[in-house]
Parts: sequence; structure tokens; C-alpha cells
Amino acid sequence: MSARILIVLFILLSIVYNAVLSFVAQKQRQKPLPVSVSDVYDPARYQKFLAYKADYRRLSYLFQLLGLLVELPLLFSALYPAVERFCGGNPYLIALLTYVIFLIPETILSGIRSGISTFHIEEKYGMNKKTVREFIKDFCIENVLEMLIIVLLTLFVTFVGEHMDAWTGHFSIGLPSAAKISLILFAAFFLIVVLLNLISYQALRLQYHFTPMPEGPLLDKIRKLQEGSKKKVKAVYIYDESKKSTSKNAFLLKLFWHREFGIADNFINENEERELLAVLSHEIGHLKHRKNWRNYLSYLSIVLLFLVIIGLIAWPSPVLRFADWVSQSFGISVTNYTMILNVLSSLLGPVSILFGLFHNSRSRAEEYEADREAVSNGYGQELIATFKRLSNDELVDVNPHPLIETLEYDHPGMANRIAAIQREMAKGRQTAG
Ligand SMILES: [Zn+2]
Repeated sequence: MSARILIVLFILLSIVYNAVLSFVAQKQRQKPLPVSVSDVYDPARYQKFLAYKADYRRLSYLFQLLGLLVELPLLFSALYPAVERFCGGNPYLIALLTYVIFLIPETILSGIRSGISTFHIEEKYGMNKKTVREFIKDFCIENVLEMLIIVLLTLFVTFVGEHMDAWTGHFSIGLPSAAKISLILFAAFFLIVVLLNLISYQALRLQYHFTPMPEGPLLDKIRKLQEGSKKKVKAVYIYDESKKSTSKNAFLLKLFWHREFGIADNFINENEERELLAVLSHEIGHLKHRKNWRNYLSYLSIVLLFLVIIGLIAWPSPVLRFADWVSQSFGISVTNYTMILNVLSSLLGPVSILFGLFHNSRSRAEEYEADREAVSNGYGQELIATFKRLSNDELVDVNPHPLIETLEYDHPGMANRIAAIQREMAKGRQTAG
């Protein structure tokens, strides 16, 4: 079968998948809310929540359709042999030009989509504070960052692909040499990831203005919360979320050995101090996290990937056959690495759902764990209050369908999360009594 047809099948499959999830979500929202979140919305506000979700559903259907209208002609166009000739057969230029051909319509579509969601939907429900200027600035920063990531990775893959034949003496090396090459590739990849992390940290600095929290009783309390934690957060910053949205957030940012708290100014201005401390106490719970089988399983998956790559270097025929198949499908004669990565990423969609399933379950378990830390510091009540207000302010789906929570949520749904905090608080009272 041609790679073109197979990609279309996978696209259709993902549309069906999304439609099923959307249907399940809609049915779930018609049910009455469980006790733990029954007071988040009054009836009028709940209607607003339903309307908000319906607006996003329509937007999503519209852009799935537009995406298809853009993607299908690109997929079936006779452009790729011409790209090859135009670039004089240079694989780096071919990869970059192919990327640009896909990039332009996709960027235009995603710009329109996020414009509609910001200035039509978010605005309509009173959640947008961005000016057009601010919006364009953020959109450019995010897109340049993403472009940089993809270009770097594409060039890396092209470089490796073009040299592998020479490095391995026409693929005639044993396992030890293959392991050596694989190790070097992993190290190079790691360096790229480090670089990208540094860049995205800088990008955040461009999007927001961060000011250190002044010395005072609040900062002392934040330091006191960290007693008993081996890892400490010394840098505490306040950032200007209020110029973009009404969102109240506080996060822990980790960059290698550096850690910092970022606290949205909305949170300082409008919320109770104890609610802020409740959220930070949760973040410190993450720092105290003990590694468990889930973490070791993720390390194991990296080791497995390493072994697979060694195997593919020593016995490359599946990779070579795959590359040939992609070339034949698009009628090209020089390996087009962007095309190979495109095809690979569509075919790996279902695998990535499986990985997501595992990653999300690990992440949710760690969120419950961090919530328990806040409860044990006596902030259970404030944590619940914060979650409820935040859910109401941001029209959060507080009672997601269990299937959707399992598949897509990296934080527990509010109904389960608040119920778990309440159980933990009840346990604490029993021990105290
Ligand atoms: Zn968390």
C-alpha cells in the first residue's frame, strides 16, 4: 500500500477517535455532578460552561475539516519530485523545503484558530485579556520556538541518516560498534534537548515579566513550608499573567539543578494567602516525591529504545526498506527526511496514545501524592476552595468521563481530586481524634 493512502487512513481514524471521545464527553456533561463538585457551578453558570464547551466543539470540528482540506492536497501533490530537482538533490535543502511547504498552511490555520479561540470564545466568556499586539507576540514566540525544535531535529536526523552508511562501513559492523554509535547519538540528542530547554526557558522570559518576590512575611512562610524537603526552591518570582488572562496559577519550574516558583500576579492580588500557600505546599509535595515503579518503568523504556537503536544500526534492513517505501510512495529518488519523519509520526499515533496512557497515569498518581502533602500541612480546605474557584472561573470540566480522564488527563479530574483530598482530611481527623 502507498504511504499516502495509509496516512489518509490514519487521519480518518484519528477523526473518528476524536468524535467518539467528544460524544462520550457530551453525554457525561448531561449527568448530575457528584457531591465533591456539586457546588462548583450554580445552574446558570453551568449552562454557560456547556455553551463554552459547545463553542470549542464547533471550532474543533471546523478546523479538523479545514486541516483535512489542506493536508490532502499536500499529501497527493506531485510537488516532491520537483522539490528534489529544485534543491539539486541536496538532502538537507530537500528536508527543509519540504518542511516549509507543510509549515506555511499549518501555521496559517493554527493562527486563525487560536485567534478565534482567544478573541471570540475566551473573550465572550470574559477570560481573555490579551491585546492583539500581545497575541501576535506570543504566537510568534511559540511558533519560532516550535520551528527551531523541528528544524534542529530534522537536520540532526538528516545528518545521521546521510552518514550512517559511512560510519558503519556499509552497515557491516558488529554489536559493540553499533552500541558505540548509538551512545554517541544519544549524547548528541541529549545535548539538543538541553539546548531546547534553555531556549524555551528564555522564551517564557520573553512572554512574561518575572519579578522576584520582595522579602517579607509571605516569603518567610514559603521558606518555612520547605522545611523537611531535601530539595529547596530559593528563587520565588511573580509574573504578570494579568495582562494576558484571568488565570490564577502558581508553578514550579525546573531547569536541571535550578528550581523556581512562578506565581501569577492574579493569585497575589485576589486570593487568600493561605490558598497560595496551599498550592505551593502541593508543589513542594512534588519535590518530596519518592521514585516508584512507574518512574523505573519509564527509565526502562529509555533503555529499551537504546537497545532497539543498537539493533537497527547493526541490522538496518527494516529502516532501509521503510525509507525506500516512503520514497516510492511519493515518487522521489533522494531520501526526503522530512517526509520520512512525517510518515513515521502519523503511523506512530496509536503508539503515542499508549505511551500517553502510561505517562498520564504516572502523572495523576504524582498529583494525588502532592495533594496529600498539602493536606498533611493543614491546607486541605484551602486547596479545595482554590480548585473550586479556579474551576468556576475557567469553566473547567469538573466531572470528566472516566474513559477520557484515563486517556487524556495528566492531572486528576476535579471530582476525583477533591474527593481524594476530602478522604485524606477525614483520615487525618481520625488519627488526630
Ligand atoms: Zn502538581
